[in-house]
Amino acid sequence: MILHDLFLPLGSTQSEVKATSCRKAGLAEKAVRTFTILRKSLDARKKGAVREVYSVLISDQEEIIPPVTFPYVGEREYRPIVVGFGPAGIFAAYVLALAGMRPLVLERGLPMEKRIKKVDVLWQEGVLDPKGNAEYGEGGAGAFSDGKLNSGIKEKDLSRFVLETFVKFGAPEEILYLNKPHIGTDRLRDTVRRMREEICRLGGEVHFEAQMTDLCADGALARVTADGEYLTDRVVLAIGHSARDTYETLLSRGFFMENKPFAVGVRIEQLQRDINQAMYGVPSAPLLPPADYKVVEHTAQGGVYSFCMCPGGYVVC
Ligand SMILES: Cc1cc2nc3c(=O)[nH]c(=O)nc-3n(C[C@H](O)[C@H](O)[C@H](O)COP(=O)(O)OP(=O)(O)OC[C@H]3O[C@@H](n4cnc5c(N)ncnc54)[C@H](O)[C@@H]3O)c2cc1C
Repeated sequence: MILHDLFLPLGSTQSEVKATSCRKAGLAEKAVRTFTILRKSLDARKKGAVREVYSVLISDQEEIIPPVTFPYVGEREYRPIVVGFGPAGIFAAYVLALAGMRPLVLERGLPMEKRIKKVDVLWQEGVLDPKGNAEYGEGGAGAFSDGKLNSGIKEKDLSRFVLETFVKFGAPEEILYLNKPHIGTDRLRDTVRRMREEICRLGGEVHFEAQMTDLCADGALARVTADGEYLTDRVVLAIGHSARDTYETLLSRGFFMENKPFAVGVRIEQLQRDINQAMYGVPSAPLLPPADYKVVEHTAQGGVYSFCMCPGGYVVC
């Protein structure tokens, strides 16, 4: 059975959560064969008396949440090509590799190990390398963030697949149930590297310093120019927002494009203790993470919303 709204004090251990769940479910702890935390968040409605709130799956039977799977396709005449190895390209390549289609990934930037060195030089000495920077390279644009896992996807199984895949390749297990999961910079880099290794183990290939400089239709096929010329019947363009040169090339080749409505933002800096006070009723507490919040206001012209917070962060520039 699934139990919701289990309230526990801050800092509760997994065994305390399990004991409370058993009491609620009327099960003896020894009889429990399935216990999985599905969700953990904070209940901060009563300021100054913040609690943890859990949803759990508990049963005296073996209950398995079936993994999300994709159909196996196998090798085809042409290998699919994935351009870009940020989050979108990594997952596209991984799913294609699981399907046995041996994708070829073309990434203009550097592999993680080399990229880290280049970004260090950029931040310490201000020297920009077009192939290895904070936008381009293995892991894509967010690889130097702390890996907050935000997604607007409503399809729950797909989100679960992404989180379970990250855990499989080294992300902390708590991302499966935390309300606001994040991987952390160092683990994010290792997770991405392990995913690349798995894609290659499954028969895929990842080429770095392989910028796609041209893409043109060749009958029913596409000809991709990068570190060589490749013919394929499927191209996934996972090039993110920064590759203006590539978008210009695609436009000049007559690919259909349309503008997306765009949002203009401002950065607001607030003292963490003020946000904690507003959200938790106390300026700080050892068992509480730095508080954040979200605001949304719908207006006739569109709306205003807060996009991304870095709770507990330091302003570096
Ligand atoms: C500093 C920073 C911090 C962020 N922090 C977070 C966060 O904590 N949480 C969050 O959810 N989001 C965060 N984001 C946003 C997040 O990074 C993006 O939403 C995400 O990276 C988009 O993924 P993508 O794969 O579509 O594109 P990208 O990550 O931009 O990846 C595109 C890839 O394609 C490659 N490429 C481009 N053109 C070509 C070409 N012609 N040939 C070959 N390769 C090409 C690029 O080198 C790049 O590696 C952050 C963004 C930035 C810039």
